[in-house]
Amino acid sequence: MIAEAIRAIDDFIAKQTDTNPHLEALKRTPGYDKFRQSFATGIKGQASKVADDFRTLSDPRVYDQSYDPLTDTQKTHLNNWVGRHMPPIHQLVPRYPVFNYFRQVFNATVKNRYGKWGFKTKAVDYNFEVSNPHYTAQLNSHTDYLLHKSTIDDTTKARIINVIDEGKQAGMTNDEVADSINDEFDQISGTRADMIARTETANVAGQADMAAATENGVQTKHWVVAGPGCPICDDNEADGSIDINDSFSSGDDTVPAHPNCECYVDFDEIDLDALADSLWDGS
Ligand SMILES: [Zn+2]
Ligand SMILES: [Zn+2]
Repeated sequence: MIAEAIRAIDDFIAKQTDTNPHLEALKRTPGYDKFRQSFATGIKGQASKVADDFRTLSDPRVYDQSYDPLTDTQKTHLNNWVGRHMPPIHQLVPRYPVFNYFRQVFNATVKNRYGKWGFKTKAVDYNFEVSNPHYTAQLNSHTDYLLHKSTIDDTTKARIINVIDEGKQAGMTNDEVADSINDEFDQISGTRADMIARTETANVAGQADMAAATENGVQTKHWVVAGPGCPICDDNEADGSIDINDSFSSGDDTVPAHPNCECYVDFDEIDLDALADSLWDGS
């Protein structure tokens, strides 16, 4: 299962190498591994806790075998019950590896962006964004969002409910349902962690690209659809060039528009002479 997650991430990185070769290096960093591993462990921890409690479940409102399929009332009780027994992800995933990984992605992306523009700059060093409180604050709030307000818990909850529902409808005992939650989440936690790693890498890389462009006086940007494309992303591309501070049709100011979005944003009308003047280290 972990091998499957790593393969999917390698695929993503391989795709990214067209536009962002420095991301390639990220998968070899301990930060990357800790980030992915943290989420896999956290999701597994949530499921295990629910499974353990389900073994000793005595609340007949949660699942009564005589109802098949579940009534709306039972669904509500099951939903609430699972929610109450799932530890929140921020209790299971340490904050620092998440923030630290985002910082690595941010740095790698900014360096790569400058590399693409063909400059050796004073700004291109590991501490590019750390010296700028605005970007540090952005990464901090992104970390908080991921650990506290994102839909990670909802998605895991929905899958646990599904396993319980299917298990009970198949006539399993509570012990058997609990075992199947644990079995299933051995696999699910890896693929979920992979999805989170891909999506959040894309999120932070998108923000870092925006930061590099903004810092260098770029005025406009346009959306480029890559990968399979979809109506949301097509609309963004159809927006054409827009002000760097504006949002695209989807409401996003940069990629990605949704999980697994493979698009990128390009920046227009860079005044190369001015950029060179401001960034060239003079050597
Ligand atoms: Zn799309
Ligand atoms: Zn897209």
